[in-house]
Amino acid sequence: MNVVIAGGGVIGLATAWRAQQRGLSVTVVDPAPASKASHVSAGMLPPGNEQLYDQPKLLALYLASRDLYPSFAAELEEFAPSGYRRDGVLDAAFDYDALHTLDHQFAFQEDLGIAVEKVTAEDVARLQPAFAPALGGLLSPDDGAVDPRVLTASLQTALKKLGGTVLRERVVRVDGHTVILGDGSAVPFDRLVLAAGCWTHHIEGLPKGAIPEIRPVKGQILRLHSDPPLLNLTARALSKGSSLYLVPRLDGELVIGATYEERGYDEVVTAAGTGQLLARAADVLPGVGNLRFAEMSASLRPGSPDDLPVIGPTNVPDVFLASGHFRMGVQLSPVTAEAMAGYLTDTAVPNPAVPFSPLRFG
Ligand SMILES: Cc1cc2nc3c(=O)[nH]c(=O)nc-3n(C[C@H](O)[C@H](O)[C@H](O)COP(=O)(O)OP(=O)(O)OC[C@H]3O[C@@H](n4cnc5c(N)ncnc54)[C@H](O)[C@@H]3O)c2cc1C
Repeated sequence: MNVVIAGGGVIGLATAWRAQQRGLSVTVVDPAPASKASHVSAGMLPPGNEQLYDQPKLLALYLASRDLYPSFAAELEEFAPSGYRRDGVLDAAFDYDALHTLDHQFAFQEDLGIAVEKVTAEDVARLQPAFAPALGGLLSPDDGAVDPRVLTASLQTALKKLGGTVLRERVVRVDGHTVILGDGSAVPFDRLVLAAGCWTHHIEGLPKGAIPEIRPVKGQILRLHSDPPLLNLTARALSKGSSLYLVPRLDGELVIGATYEERGYDEVVTAAGTGQLLARAADVLPGVGNLRFAEMSASLRPGSPDDLPVIGPTNVPDVFLASGHFRMGVQLSPVTAEAMAGYLTDTAVPNPAVPFSPLRFG
């Protein structure tokens, strides 16, 4: 069966790899694969976040993806490095409100059976000597991060090695069982997956309402560099009512994120965004100003009407949707890919993915 996937971000590429593995013949169509949200993402894979506390269905989906990550990464590593690290996440509290928040998080993780230990201020200083003095924290030894740039490059390598194709073009329109590309050419499909992030609903030719609007939520993110790396562990620094994530890579890169801005399709890096992230980082990492500036970037998180992922068949025969992953697309890529491969091959779909059908929007 011939499958076309419109959009080669982490969601489209992970789906493509899994579908090709299941014997389908997959073509990913994207003018610039892995260049948007998936390119700028920090790839933080935290042990949970406040979004999950009162969202049992999202929590189940998240936990399923978390369970799948190690084998997903290991299988991918048969082709190329996955960029996955599972060497712990440190949550550090820099004020008493934050300490209280972490008490809540500790109870939440313990209830779910996610390994977690409370650590003292001295432990935080030992684990991350570069941090300003903290009041205490949590260490989640089985969590970590993935480098989305490495991950998406490897997904493309793996897809091509299995016989799949990546076509550098834009999908403009769907016309029956054919997609029309930016250069005017037509590519036929048996099944089509729309996975173009917050551009998904711009693809024309489908009945009104078949695809929910996927709104863009801007995020700006900073990359610095030091040799040796300034931080030892993936971390979240909690202070002044918010949390800043700090993701060190083994090559010395330190990713600091991120802003949340509802500004439509605006991908401009601003001085204010840069200043905000640097100021928040300086509060918890006194040495941050000495690091080499590497990159400041911005992209758009795909947000569905209810801010939850949209995964599965639409009401148009043979047209499927995998989008709306908002703040968690990198985390949710293994379970999304598994679910989409199930839908595309008419085989079992992981139960936690079922409530995220596009048909919930009517
Ligand atoms: C600053 C920032 C930090 C983030 N940090 C994290 C994090 O730490 N952990 C986490 O899990 N998530 C994080 N996210 C969220 C995550 O990046 C997204 O949820 C995820 O990348 C969405 O993947 P996607 O493939 O759906 O979309 P995208 O990565 O946006 O990919 C969409 C693709 O579609 C292509 N496209 C667009 N229009 C067309 C068309 N007409 N035809 C063909 N192709 C088209 C684009 O070129 C692009 O390659 C972050 C996001 C941002 C912005």
